[in-house]
Amino acid sequence: MRAGVTFTQALATSAQSAVLSRCPHCRSHTMFHGWVDLYERCSRCDLRFEVESGAWVGTVAIGYAASVTIVITLTILEVFYHPLSTVGLDPLWFVPLAGIAAVLPAYRPAKALWFARLYLYDFTEDVPVERPRS
Ligand SMILES: [Zn+2]
Repeated sequence: MRAGVTFTQALATSAQSAVLSRCPHCRSHTMFHGWVDLYERCSRCDLRFEVESGAWVGTVAIGYAASVTIVITLTILEVFYHPLSTVGLDPLWFVPLAGIAAVLPAYRPAKALWFARLYLYDFTEDVPVERPRS
């Protein structure tokens, strides 16, 4: 873990990055322009977001985990309460399709969370010196 960062701070940084897409260093500006495209650097603290090509494999893993969680949750709900078959949907098709569809909205938070993890574990290339806040 990055020097001087406590577990609670790391948790707050990860959550803020994933939910609000904020820069994990300054926590004040978004990392994205558009839905999934990262800025090259943070406009406030100059932290470089584009680490290297292929550094986003973890994003896919996090998105996959979110998708699997949704599929398992829907399956459990269907087994015990039958909400899908009650409204006329075939659970055999709907549950996997919902899992695949969940990947799209989960991609941006997953990418932000993955970058926050790279930052917190010192895998970013150049961490800038803190600028005075203006
Ligand atoms: Zn920043």
